[in-house]
Amino acid sequence: MAVKITELCINCDSCIDECPATAIVSASDSPVNGDNTYVKPEKCIECSDGTMPKCADACPTEGAIVWDMPYTAEYNAYYVAGHESGIYNIREHKKNGIMFPAVSPKPYREAISIANRQAHTPVAE
Ligand code: SF4
Ligand code: SF4
Repeated sequence: MAVKITELCINCDSCIDECPATAIVSASDSPVNGDNTYVKPEKCIECSDGTMPKCADACPTEGAIVWDMPYTAEYNAYYVAGHESGIYNIREHKKNGIMFPAVSPKPYREAISIANRQAHTPVAE
């Protein structure tokens, strides 16, 4: 990712249309078994060209959107494990296979520490 949506999300869906990468889907369209709006980590670019992630800017619920690991080859195993355990459901490309970070890395914010990402710190903080 990226960013991740937690169980604190109230499914208001305010974030969906704000995402420049069309990375967010409503709970009913989520590819994982869950009750919440979902961020596709293989699409999220962390709004790295702006001042803050647009989803978090639109979100009324503290703690609903948190940092996740960079979607880069270095964290490929993290996303493979998350995909296998059902936390994520990474899209499969017909030619290139599952779009894991080693296949299709995404931009991320270097200013966000790995410790904060591991702790899933709220994006607003
Ligand atoms: S951080 Fe930006 S690109 Fe990522 S889900 Fe939020 S709005 Fe979309
Ligand atoms: S704006 Fe926040 S509370 Fe609303 S759906 Fe998105 S993450 Fe959930």
